[in-house]
Amino acid sequence: MIRKTCEECRGAIVRKNVEFTLLGESLGLFPADVCMKCGEELFDEKTSDRIDEVAKKKGLWGLAARTKVGKVGTSIAVTINKSIAQFMNLQKGKEVYVHPESKRKLVIELTS
Ligand SMILES: [Zn+2]
Repeated sequence: MIRKTCEECRGAIVRKNVEFTLLGESLGLFPADVCMKCGEELFDEKTSDRIDEVAKKKGLWGLAARTKVGKVGTSIAVTINKSIAQFMNLQKGKEVYVHPESKRKLVIELTS
């Protein structure tokens, strides 16, 4: 299906290669329908599948995980799975900066 106008704003659609970024890593350039007016980018199904493939190859797929809060002494502990640890190059003894972004969101940032 070829779309000529944007479903959001009725702007003109052009086909061009856009960079797809996941978790701060570029996956490369992929053809997308881009709205000249609002900048909305749309990938077709085939391209989306290709993007998923590249993400899997780069180990950027399925990094999000549910985990349970544990306890270590008087502190609580959250376990970080192996694939996230590898992706972020987290090792035992590495210093991280932990700060809440809200009452529901905690950020763990590498200090170096
Ligand atoms: Zn638009």
